[in-house]
Amino acid sequence: MSKPGSRGVVWLGSPSFPDAAREALGNTRLRANLKRATTTIRDKRLAVASELDDWEQLRDAATAIKNRTARHLDRYLVQLEAAVTAAGGTVHWASDAAEANRIVTELVQATGEREVVKIKSMATQEIGLNEALAEAGITAYETDLAELIVQLGDDRPSHILVPAIHRNRTEIRDLFTAEMAHWGQPAPENLGDDPRELAEAARLHLREKFLTAKVAVSGANFAVADTGTVVVVESEGNGRMCLTLPETLITVMGIEKTVPSWSDLEVFLQLLPRSSTGERMNPYTSTWTGTTDGDGPREFHLVLLDNGRTDTLADEVGRQVLGCIRCSACLNVCPVFERTGGHAYGSVYPGPIGAVLTPQLVGVENAASLPFASTLCGACYDACPVKIDIPEVLAHLRAKAVERKPRGAEALAMKAAATVLDSPRLLSAAQKAAALGGRALAREGRIGRLPGPLHGWSDTRDTPAPPAESFRSWWRKNREGER
Ligand code: SF4
Repeated sequence: MSKPGSRGVVWLGSPSFPDAAREALGNTRLRANLKRATTTIRDKRLAVASELDDWEQLRDAATAIKNRTARHLDRYLVQLEAAVTAAGGTVHWASDAAEANRIVTELVQATGEREVVKIKSMATQEIGLNEALAEAGITAYETDLAELIVQLGDDRPSHILVPAIHRNRTEIRDLFTAEMAHWGQPAPENLGDDPRELAEAARLHLREKFLTAKVAVSGANFAVADTGTVVVVESEGNGRMCLTLPETLITVMGIEKTVPSWSDLEVFLQLLPRSSTGERMNPYTSTWTGTTDGDGPREFHLVLLDNGRTDTLADEVGRQVLGCIRCSACLNVCPVFERTGGHAYGSVYPGPIGAVLTPQLVGVENAASLPFASTLCGACYDACPVKIDIPEVLAHLRAKAVERKPRGAEALAMKAAATVLDSPRLLSAAQKAAALGGRALAREGRIGRLPGPLHGWSDTRDTPAPPAESFRSWWRKNREGER
């Protein structure tokens, strides 16, 4: 994110996850903030999910709806376009980030405005819309409180739902005091770090924007194909202000957010708040269908974004990721995310979902370290309200990442291992050699650092010294005659 008028940077995958994670692990304050926040949300989610007797049936229904929608997405998208158009809206199709940014920029320019208010939208972060608008001399003001904190700090979101999860309230107070004046209404003098004071400062700062902005840009949680209704769920009411006050509303939505009907939507409106914020229902659920004379925006544009999604749909294993409703439950249970935070993933989509979505959107070769940013413990799969089998997709993408670099050390090692495991004679010889070498390197039953490229293994794991005798050898001596 960038200050008004300066040029922003779209960031992705640099440095790679292991390097970024190593640096993040040294930040003890970040880890403390993350642990406190994820533990709180996790406990709330478990409590409200367990209140519903049909929670598992709801999850199954969500999976079935998402699978059905993915199978017939072409049909539902055309249906959605027809319904939005019939209701007075205009639908635009964007195959990639550049096309989506061009469409939105031209729409804003056509209004003659130089400022837009925005409500939290991961799709617009994915395409770097704020930066594209800034290049055209248009300033985008984030109005979601957490996004505002991220924007004022020239920072990056670190969580899907709580983008400023890495900041504590003292940091936020200092940020408001130092930066709000650069963007509009300054922070009150002697601002304290009490959450109510901070919220009031943000409210005053944003009110000025809401009352003057003529154009708003939003994301969408869902769009109902059979009526053309777009849905945004949020907690603060700032989204409602963005969606109703400006004269022109532009919504940028990934094509996978389509649901066939309102009865399908009902399933997700039960699952999403419980899985995300641990609430029984969202404080604000805004729905709108095209335009209405004398009420709300006079112009409505829906930009349907592909940007790698149809390629993802073509992958039989990876396509399940398109069912994601961005609840962030998988982040809050992930032991890796809890320690590294979201920035280490170098992507708009952090945590387990980022590790499987980003490589598919940008190509595995461009985010090859992300599928390895997991212990494969499976906690994400258990928590996911749509039952996306994230470990399965991680393993699938790991295989792709390795296949794409056949000369890499890992591919060569796998090839050598396959040859050895295929031959009992070679396996026995390799075990003897490894046992001899391992015991020579060991101190007090542990190997400190393996030699050569193998040190990548021992640098992050305890490596016990091999036993003096292999199981195969013991079996031959003691049991073979019993068969
Ligand atoms: S993968 Fe599942 S748990 Fe993670 S954000 Fe998406 S819907 Fe939520």
